[in-house]
This record gives sequence, structure tokens and C-alpha cells, in this order.
Amino acid sequence: MLTLEHLSVTIDEKPIVSDISLTFSPGKIYCLLGHNGSGKSSLAFALMGHPRYQASGFLTKDGKDILSMSVNERALAGMFLSFQNIPEIPGVRVLEYLRTIYNIRLKQKDPSSKGISSFLFRRYIAPMREALGVDEKFLDRDLYVGFSGGEKRKLELLQIRLLDPDCILLDEIDSGLDIGAVKLLSEEIIRLRKEGKTVIMITHNFHLLDTIEPDAVIVMSAGKILREWGHDLVEQIRSNWFDSL
Ligand code: ADP
Ligand code: MG
Repeated sequence: MLTLEHLSVTIDEKPIVSDISLTFSPGKIYCLLGHNGSGKSSLAFALMGHPRYQASGFLTKDGKDILSMSVNERALAGMFLSFQNIPEIPGVRVLEYLRTIYNIRLKQKDPSSKGISSFLFRRYIAPMREALGVDEKFLDRDLYVGFSGGEKRKLELLQIRLLDPDCILLDEIDSGLDIGAVKLLSEEIIRLRKEGKTVIMITHNFHLLDTIEPDAVIVMSAGKILREWGHDLVEQIRSNWFDSL
């Protein structure tokens, strides 16, 4: 359970998100909607602990304060954020990146663990990779360098399978996906809900919303929560955009 109480976010002392109180429960999908610039990505960054997005108020996960935690500690505590704009990182091979983040997890569970070798790791992730349609050749490329939008998103989904976080923030993860990839994405999100994960997704893709049927819809405007409702709010927004709210 992720709980925000009177959470505000500033960037260089400029208020971006003000006084948000929300609870996100396990096994539920939440959809965050709102005009461009309403503060959705800033809220996601602040929840994950991006140092530029200064958060005040209270933020707890399963009763534990996570506001004082670093990004790394939040990740180990089960938080995961897929960025709206995924950076390309030359010089870092995908296989080694994935293996490193996986080995950190192994060490967290068992401090005496020496981690998994490249050879075994390649075999270990093969089923996850294949389920998501990520070709093996991507493992030997530089991290996200020259990846298409869809290829980047699939690698994000592979990391979710690999790290098994329980609170997953997806910031416009559907952008740049073709119809087949959106179908795969929605199946993946529905699977996460069945596994009891909390999924918070920022999207304006009504096709995706129809397939997933989020448990709650939250509309943000100018850094505040404008409305919070069930799936029927999607219908209202589909017909009148945000003008009727
Ligand atoms: P959304 O994701 O809803 O489109 P954002 O959170 O990206 O909105 O942006 C909210 C506001 O915060 C915008 O006015 C944006 O320009 C500003 N903002 C976001 N990130 C930064 C940043 N790193 N530096 C300066 N301003 C920012
Ligand atoms: Mg955004």
C-alpha cells in the first residue's frame, strides 16, 4: 500500500504539485490523467525520489516512510518507474545492465550471494525475454541506444518481470507502441494486477483504458487532484475531454 498525505512537489523552489493525498492499494490499477503540464510526471519522479523533484509531506509504503529514502533504496523497497522519456546510455551493454540490477536484488535477499554469471543470466532471462518478444540481439546492444519507442518500452517491461517490484509507475508507457505492442502491454498490466501489484499508469490511450479497466481514475490539473472516480470517469473524459469536470 502506497500512501501520500499532503504531498507537495517543488522544482527549484517552484511549486509543481500541491497537497496531494491518495492511497494506492495492492492488486489495483490506477490511471492518472490530465492535460500536459499538470504535474503527472513530476509526481511520478517525486514518488521515485528524483533529487530535482523535492517532495514534502508524507509518503509511506506498507507503513514505512520512504520519503527519506534514496532512489536506490526505494527501488529495493519495491518501487519501479518507467520514464515518459527514456534516456539512451551509450557504453552500457543491456545484458550487463540487467544482470547488475538483478544481482543487486539477489544480494539484498542473501548478502552472501555472489550473483549470477553472464552466461547463466542470459539463459535465466530467455523465457521472460521471449514472452515479451525481445530478441536476444538486444542484449548485446548499448542501453536504449537507437531503440525504437516500442523496443524501449519492451525492455522496461522486461525489467519489471526481472525485478518483480510491487508498486509500478508507468509514465505514458504506451507512447510509440503499435497495436500489437499495446495488446502485449495491456496483458502484462492485467497480469500484474492479478499478481497483487499496485500499478499507477499515466496514459491518455483510451484503447488501453478500455482493455485494462482501471480500478480508479485520478484527474490532475495544475498540480492538484481535480477528480477521483471509478472507470465511468473515463467515459466522461472520452466525450468531453476535461472540459466537463
Ligand atoms: P505532465 O507530466 O502532467 O505533462 P510535468 O510533470 O512534466 O507534467 O510538468 C509539470 C510542470 O512542471 C510543467 O510546467 C513543467 O514545465 C514543469 N517541470 C517539470 N519538470 C521540470 C524540470 N525538470 N525543470 C523545470 N520545470 C519542470
Ligand atoms: Mg508527463
